[in-house]
Amino acid sequence: MPDTLHRLLTTTVRGTVTFPGDPGWDDARQAYNLAVDQRPRAVVHAADAADVQAVMRAARAAGLRVAPQGTGHGCGAMASLDEAILLRVDRLGGLEIDAAARRVRAGTGVRWGEVTASLDAHGLAALAGTSPTARVAGYTLGGGIGFLARAHGLACNAVEAVEIVTADGELRRADASSDADLFWAVRGGGGNFGVVTAIEFRVVPAPEVFAGALFWDVTRAPEVLTAWTEWIPDAPDTLTSTARVLQFPPIPDIPEPFRGRSFAMVQGAFLGAQEQGADLWAPLRALGPEIDTLAVIPPSALGTINMDPPEPLPYAGDGGLLTAFTPEAAAALLAVHGGPGTSSPLLSVEIRHLGGAMATAPEGAGALSAIPAPFAWFGVGAIPDPALGDAVREGIEHVAEALAPWDAGCAYMNFAETPCGGDILFGADVHARLRAVRAAYDPDGLLLANHEVAPG
Ligand SMILES: Cc1cc2nc3c(=O)[nH]c(=O)nc-3n(C[C@H](O)[C@H](O)[C@H](O)COP(=O)(O)OP(=O)(O)OC[C@H]3O[C@@H](n4cnc5c(N)ncnc54)[C@H](O)[C@@H]3O)c2cc1C
Repeated sequence: MPDTLHRLLTTTVRGTVTFPGDPGWDDARQAYNLAVDQRPRAVVHAADAADVQAVMRAARAAGLRVAPQGTGHGCGAMASLDEAILLRVDRLGGLEIDAAARRVRAGTGVRWGEVTASLDAHGLAALAGTSPTARVAGYTLGGGIGFLARAHGLACNAVEAVEIVTADGELRRADASSDADLFWAVRGGGGNFGVVTAIEFRVVPAPEVFAGALFWDVTRAPEVLTAWTEWIPDAPDTLTSTARVLQFPPIPDIPEPFRGRSFAMVQGAFLGAQEQGADLWAPLRALGPEIDTLAVIPPSALGTINMDPPEPLPYAGDGGLLTAFTPEAAAALLAVHGGPGTSSPLLSVEIRHLGGAMATAPEGAGALSAIPAPFAWFGVGAIPDPALGDAVREGIEHVAEALAPWDAGCAYMNFAETPCGGDILFGADVHARLRAVRAAYDPDGLLLANHEVAPG
């Protein structure tokens, strides 16, 4: 069978095909998360949509599955690739902006940083997440919660069309009027329904964005987190914020003044005028942060606020959704991470304020129509040495246990780094409908997504 696969791929694919043992094999199979050891049967860097079609046909003929991947930002929950071809989509570029119509068409390999930088000149913003290196499709298919999410909702519900190669090898354009079920499913249902080669989505006017972060020494964390819980009930939907407790390691890669220090932090963006933004943030600024980066910034600069590492690194992370984040929840979190006397192996635990436009389904929404919880948490720790992996995973477990009284009993795909099941991700009814769509478009389960929806 290896010979057959070799022939099927090398005679039909224009892009790069790499097999175990080939030069460049380790680079080809590597994901953003260096702690995840991906060992597929072959890696294909598709050059175009025709390559994606060829890979679908070759995989079917060879009895293998196809795992599409952009960056590997979300590879933590992926099942074994032993019987799969890893299909890298990063070369499927191309970015077209129709500023007048506030509409973008992006090849699936385009990174968010490229989109947001191109939109600045038009006074427009995309519903991108914190990381400019994430690729548009993976982030959007999983939902997409960014700095403008309380004002404009989930990125998946701003999608107007996808170009997608389904398991039968057909290249389709799915939108509200053609392959409408497929169009519904990809908007929040992840990479279970085909390989997206391009995506079209609405962008929003953003003439002025007042955004940044406030940092206090971690000893102020109880006071800061409590103040944040009291501040957000009055936040308008135009204000999206996150509270974090960060511990920077004492390594040269971390710049001063952060190196080796721990902080309580509140970061966020207000979509509106500076004066109004400054008024809104005044109660937190009154606590005297040590560092204050709040300013009017171009929307593309939102991608710097979370300080997400641009280069791959080894780590473990996980998160969940919360019914509330009260002063009691803040105290419970600080008892395991960042509070006095604690010793946590995690770099960061963040609590994101959801709600606003994410709380209700917009007309014509996709499978993830809204987020049924007002807060999300995510914890992450670096694993520079594999021996530290268990400690980091235990640290995340301790955060989950501390926040368990507020656990919403559901999860958000993009923040779930361990498999958690379709009923938890989507609710039973949406999960059942997604399984039916999967059965219609991929009855044999050719596609291998990081969060699997089995054909129903
Ligand atoms: C540093 C960092 C910051 C983040 N910040 C945010 C944030 O602010 N908000 C948020 O919502 N999420 C955030 N995430 C989570 C991130 O959005 C998800 O991990 C998302 O899946 C990343 O997409 P990707 O294509 O870059 O990653 P990948 O791991 O390559 O893709 C994840 C999955 O998406 C599917 N997929 C990817 N491309 C395709 C395609 N072309 N066709 C079909 N399926 C495809 C596959 O099933 C794949 O397993 C962050 C992640 C990281 C690492």
